[in-house]
Amino acid sequence: MAEKIAMKTPLVEMDGDEMTRILWKWIKEILIEPYVDLKTEYYDLGLPERDKTDDRVTEQAALATKKYGVAVKCATITPNAQRVEEYKLKQMWKSPNGTIRRILDGTVFRAPIIVKGITPYVPGWKQSIVLARHAYGDIYNSVEARANAGESAYLVICDKDGKEVSRSLIKQFPGEGIVQGVHNLDKSIESFAVSCFNYALENKIPLWFGAKDTISKTYDHRFKDIFNEIYERDYKEKFEAAGIYFMYTLIDDIVARIMRSEGGVLWACKNYDGDVMSDMVATAYGSLGMMSSVLVSPDGNYEYEAAHGTVTRHYYRYLKGEETSTNSVATIWAWTGALSKRGELDGIPELVAFAQKLEKAVIDTIESGEMTGDLIALFKREGVTPKKLESREFLRAVASRL
Ligand code: NAP
Ligand code: MG
Repeated sequence: MAEKIAMKTPLVEMDGDEMTRILWKWIKEILIEPYVDLKTEYYDLGLPERDKTDDRVTEQAALATKKYGVAVKCATITPNAQRVEEYKLKQMWKSPNGTIRRILDGTVFRAPIIVKGITPYVPGWKQSIVLARHAYGDIYNSVEARANAGESAYLVICDKDGKEVSRSLIKQFPGEGIVQGVHNLDKSIESFAVSCFNYALENKIPLWFGAKDTISKTYDHRFKDIFNEIYERDYKEKFEAAGIYFMYTLIDDIVARIMRSEGGVLWACKNYDGDVMSDMVATAYGSLGMMSSVLVSPDGNYEYEAAHGTVTRHYYRYLKGEETSTNSVATIWAWTGALSKRGELDGIPELVAFAQKLEKAVIDTIESGEMTGDLIALFKREGVTPKKLESREFLRAVASRL
C-alpha cells in the first residue's frame, strides 16, 4: 500500500452523540485512516462528557478552533427535559452549536450535496444554492407589546445618561393592536457581510443579497449600505479577478431569480428570511442526509459539520443490535471540507486531492445505484436500479471506489 498522506497542523475533532457518533468512528476507520496519517486534537462533545466537565469541553473545543483554524464536528444532542432524565444530567446544558457560534462569532453556510438521480423539486436547480443566514437580531431579539384603543406607541432613543434624544410616534391606536421593537448592530451586519464575501470568493460563486430597503428606508437600507460599502472597498477587485459578482436587489426580486436560476449561487439572507428559506431550500433538494454545513468566522476560522442531528431513532435500533441504513454523506462532507481546508492552509495538495477523491467516490457510489434507505424513494436514473445498503456497507462501497 502507498504511503499515507502526512498532515502538519492538527484538525480540531469534536465527537458527538448517538447514531452519528457511531458513523463518525466508522468513517474514520473505513474512509480516512487507511489513507491519511490523521492528526487531530480530540474533544469529546458527547453528552456524557459535556455533563462530566460542566460543559467546559465545548468551550475548550471552540477555543482550540480559534487556535488552529479548522474543526470538524459530529452532530450532538441539545438537551431538553427528556434528555436530562435520560442521561441523568446535572443541568440542561446549552446547545453546543450555540456555544461554539458565540465564541467564534460566525455565519453558517448550508449547501446541498448534488448527485445525478436525485432531482430537486425545482427541476431547474442543477447546482447548489448555498444559503447564509445572519444569526443575530431582528425579530429574534425583539420587544413586543399589545396596545389598547386610545393608547400610543413611540420609538424613543435615549443617550447613555438616559436623556431623550429623539421620539417618533409609531401609532396612535384607534382600536386594539400590537407593536414590536427590533434592532441590529452595524458590527454584526459587517461581520456577516465579510463572511459572505469570503465564502463566495473561496468557492468562486456569485453572491446575492436581498432585503426590503424600499420600504424599510433606515433599517433594511443599512444592511444594503453596509454590504455595498464593504464590497466596493475590499472585495470588488477580488471578485472581478475571480470572475464572480455581488448583486444586491429587493428580496422579492431575489426569490423570483432563485426560482428561475440553475443554482450555483450564495444567497445571503437576513435572519428571518434565512430561517424560512433554509427549510425551503433543504426540502427542495431532497434529504437531510445530503445537506452540509460550515461555520465561518470573520477572522477566518472554519468548523465543518452535517446539517442534520444525531438520528436518534436509528441509534435506538442500533442499540438493539439491528443494522441501520443511516446516511453518512453529510458527515463525510464535514471531514472532506475540513481536510481540504487544512491541506489548503498548510500547503498539502495531496490532502486536498484526497478530499476531492473521497467526495467523488461517494457521488459515484450513489450515482451507480448504491445508497442508504433515505435516498431510495428519491432516486430515479435511467438504467439504474437503486439498492439499499446498511450504514457500514455503504462506507465499504465508497472505500472500494477510492
Ligand atoms: P435528526 O437527527 O436530523 O433526525 C430527524 C429524522 O430525519 C430522523 O429520524 C431520520 O428520519 C431523518 N434523518 C436525519 N438525518 C439522517 C441521516 N443522516 N440518514 C438518514 N435519515 C436521517 O433530527 P432530530 O430527530 O430532530 O434530533 C435528534 C437529536 O439531534 C436531538 O437531540 C437534537 O438536539 C440533535 N440535533 C443536533 C444538531 C447538530 O448537532 N447540529 C442538529 C439538529 C438536531 P427516519 O427516522 O424517518 O429515518
Ligand atoms: Mg427554520
